[in-house]
Amino acid sequence: MARTPARRKAWVIAVANQKGGVAKTTSVASLGAAMAERGLRVLLVDLDPQACLTFSLGFDPEDVEGSIHQVLTGATALADVVITTDDGVDLVPATIELATAEQLLMTRTGREQILKSALAPVLTSYDVVLLDCPPTLGILTTVALTAAQGVLIPLQCETLSHRGVGQLLDTVHDVKKITNRRLTVIGVLPTLFDARTSHSKLVLERIGADYGVPVVEPPIPKSVRFAEAPAVGRSILVTARSSKGAAAYREVADRLLLERGLLEPATADA
Ligand code: ADP
Ligand code: MG
Repeated sequence: MARTPARRKAWVIAVANQKGGVAKTTSVASLGAAMAERGLRVLLVDLDPQACLTFSLGFDPEDVEGSIHQVLTGATALADVVITTDDGVDLVPATIELATAEQLLMTRTGREQILKSALAPVLTSYDVVLLDCPPTLGILTTVALTAAQGVLIPLQCETLSHRGVGQLLDTVHDVKKITNRRLTVIGVLPTLFDARTSHSKLVLERIGADYGVPVVEPPIPKSVRFAEAPAVGRSILVTARSSKGAAAYREVADRLLLERGLLEPATADA
């Protein structure tokens, strides 16, 4: 009897940086929408108690029925809290309750594996899962890094001080040693890039060299269009369809997918 080939499991990417305001959430929403435009099945997971991703995709965190909090505390299966968004991606929303998960998880053995285990049953239903991490290096970021195969680090080009990246890479190193040997650093994604300032260019040149990690290109330009998108509950790929920012995210998404073998080269050129 012929067996149907096992379905490929989703590529799980943690988008992390313990600094706030570096465009983690914007990158998750935009890359997710860009990958969905390519016909991929995408799941986004909001792991920030501030629930900015949930809000930016058009949901009031106070109105959602189930959230990542119930999943992490073991009360609900992840599949039961997934909601469909207008951007063509699925979402596991967050609520402010998540702020207490950190403490609840503290006393649990095997807590690092909790998201990985929760995602396991849905991995064949998606091609890509993007995890939007909170601006800390606490347990929520650790569970994301443990569940992921790759970590993408958005980095704003505005400041010269990027010491935080070293700390994050130390955390990645620890996670690799203890809970997730196969974790790889996909690279640093330069965000809020202003091509007119030599400052931005300098930062871009130094990031790769200083930390020995790949720089994912093109850099995402700084643009006011990004500030407008969350207000209408859609990503910039929809609200500013032909903006430079949307084009940059599409290009980054294609490059990531090509490298991973999730997109045919001919499609990417189209
Ligand atoms: P984080 O999740 O890292 O805290 P956000 O994605 O929430 O960062 O972005 C922080 C702020 O910067 C938001 O107000 C967002 O709209 C804005 N922003 C993100 N990317 C850009 C960009 N390329 N140009 C201008 N503003 C941006
Ligand atoms: Mg965020």
